[in-house]
Amino acid sequence: MQRMIQGHQAVQLVYKRSTQLSRNRQPIQFIHKIQCHGVRRDNANFPKDQGLSSSWSLAAFGAGVVGSQKPVAKYADQETMLKGVRAISDALGPESVTTDSDDISFHSYSDVSTSHCAARPVAVVTPKSTQEVSVIARICSDYRIPMIPFAGGSSVEGNFTAPYSGISINFSQMNKIIAFHEDDTDVVIQPGVNWVDLNDRIKESGLFLPMDPSPTALIGGMVATNCSGTNAVRYVVLADGSVIKTRHRPRKASAGYNLNALFTGSEGTLGMITEITLKLAPVPETQSAAVATFPSVRDAVSCTTKTMRQGIPVAAVELMDEVQMQVINKNGGAGGRIWEEKPMLMFKFSGTEQSVSAHIERVEMMISQAGGSAFEFARTEKEMHNLWSARKEAVWAMCAQWPEGTRIWSTDVAVPLSSLSVIIDLSKTESSSLGLFSSVLGHVGDGNFHQAVMYDPSDSSQAHGVQECVRKMVHRAVEMEGTVSVCCLPEAFLLALTDWLC
Ligand SMILES: Cc1cc2nc3c(=O)[nH]c(=O)nc-3n(C[C@H](O)[C@H](O)[C@H](O)COP(=O)(O)OP(=O)(O)OC[C@H]3O[C@@H](n4cnc5c(N)ncnc54)[C@H](O)[C@@H]3O)c2cc1C
Repeated sequence: MQRMIQGHQAVQLVYKRSTQLSRNRQPIQFIHKIQCHGVRRDNANFPKDQGLSSSWSLAAFGAGVVGSQKPVAKYADQETMLKGVRAISDALGPESVTTDSDDISFHSYSDVSTSHCAARPVAVVTPKSTQEVSVIARICSDYRIPMIPFAGGSSVEGNFTAPYSGISINFSQMNKIIAFHEDDTDVVIQPGVNWVDLNDRIKESGLFLPMDPSPTALIGGMVATNCSGTNAVRYVVLADGSVIKTRHRPRKASAGYNLNALFTGSEGTLGMITEITLKLAPVPETQSAAVATFPSVRDAVSCTTKTMRQGIPVAAVELMDEVQMQVINKNGGAGGRIWEEKPMLMFKFSGTEQSVSAHIERVEMMISQAGGSAFEFARTEKEMHNLWSARKEAVWAMCAQWPEGTRIWSTDVAVPLSSLSVIIDLSKTESSSLGLFSSVLGHVGDGNFHQAVMYDPSDSSQAHGVQECVRKMVHRAVEMEGTVSVCCLPEAFLLALTDWLC
């Protein structure tokens, strides 16, 4: 949500309202406001504020405010939800609906996620078209059933949990490439397309989608978590089943409200994205990667800051601290090797042969000035994949080393680059002074880092300790004019945060 504030002024206004709404538990007007701007295709039966009793958006806001207050909105009880499921089964066919408990668990719980809740959806439905999504939304709206979109299930912040039960809507069957406009360098797709498959299918064209989240992620989930490019959303189904088009294909869109930006990153809370236009980038002539170790995280971050300030166009800079490197080694290493257990920076470069080698040279100089050593760069594609593999394996290595009965509290904080080393240092010191095991990795080029703190939830001093660590980190980040992802917050903390962020 915070990301949206930075955009259009109108979005700012809507955001402010939404935070109020989350406190007042009446998000109905928010949805109405979006539709009021003439984007809705069919206004004939457009309900007034109270008509849009969107259980779905309420569920989403409610998920962020699980406090002591009871939500004002009432959702259907389980029996009514199951009636809704039967209505969906009648409309779409029984093959589109499952109430199997393993399926339900898979669609509402993830080991790699920080936030969990006991409630589960009553069913998973799998639509095949925008029309079917619209039918599902209409039925859910009639029966007051929360709707939780589900794509690849790789998000790490409890994004697809179902705190008020409801129905999980699995987009994996909507996986068609609708139109590939090679000359316009864009592609129109359904949300269930996997990004690795997409790149594979269009690779002959010399174009690609340059995002790189979990290989299992689907484009709908990537757009909904703001992982995609800005030209993303195209069709969205709102909570009452109405279908809106957020923009046309041209990249410039100065007319009217920027609905596209509103739905991008809205994590399934505002509408279900059913068709997407993605802008593609030319596959670079050359790519390479380089790694180096540093005496401390502070030195590694200082090297990043200097590299960015010099304007060296690196495609990515990732940091992993010494603990993260130990975790990778304990898990058998990555890329066919065991790594030095020191803070490490990994750089990615792309461009022409000449520019890439010039940039690698300049980065090597920065590394040595910042006290870095063990500099290595890739000469072949295989070497590049091997160097980058430690970063790719990091999350899985952490999960594999996770002792039974413990949990990981994973955080997501971004601060201005100049404050990054201070906040990482303090956060690491704090967790180790409390005796908690924690590791840091980050997309440091963007001032973004994740600290994963391991704790035993049945040990009250550890549970309290981890909350304190996270609370202080969040305070600090906000003081530094940074942003935090709300999943990293203790529950009671969420309401206060909305005040800071507006
Ligand atoms: C190993 C690993 C590496 C990762 N690396 C990165 C990284 O480098 N960068 C990064 O940003 N993330 C990363 N992630 C996190 C994750 O891959 C991204 O958040 C990804 O964008 C989620 O996509 P998904 O398809 O798995 O979505 P899901 O997890 O299924 O859903 C994410 C959210 O989108 C909503 N949603 C899904 N489909 C729709 C739809 N059609 N309409 C509306 N809302 C919808 C869901 O309700 C949910 O709120 C990583 C995760 C793992 C496990």
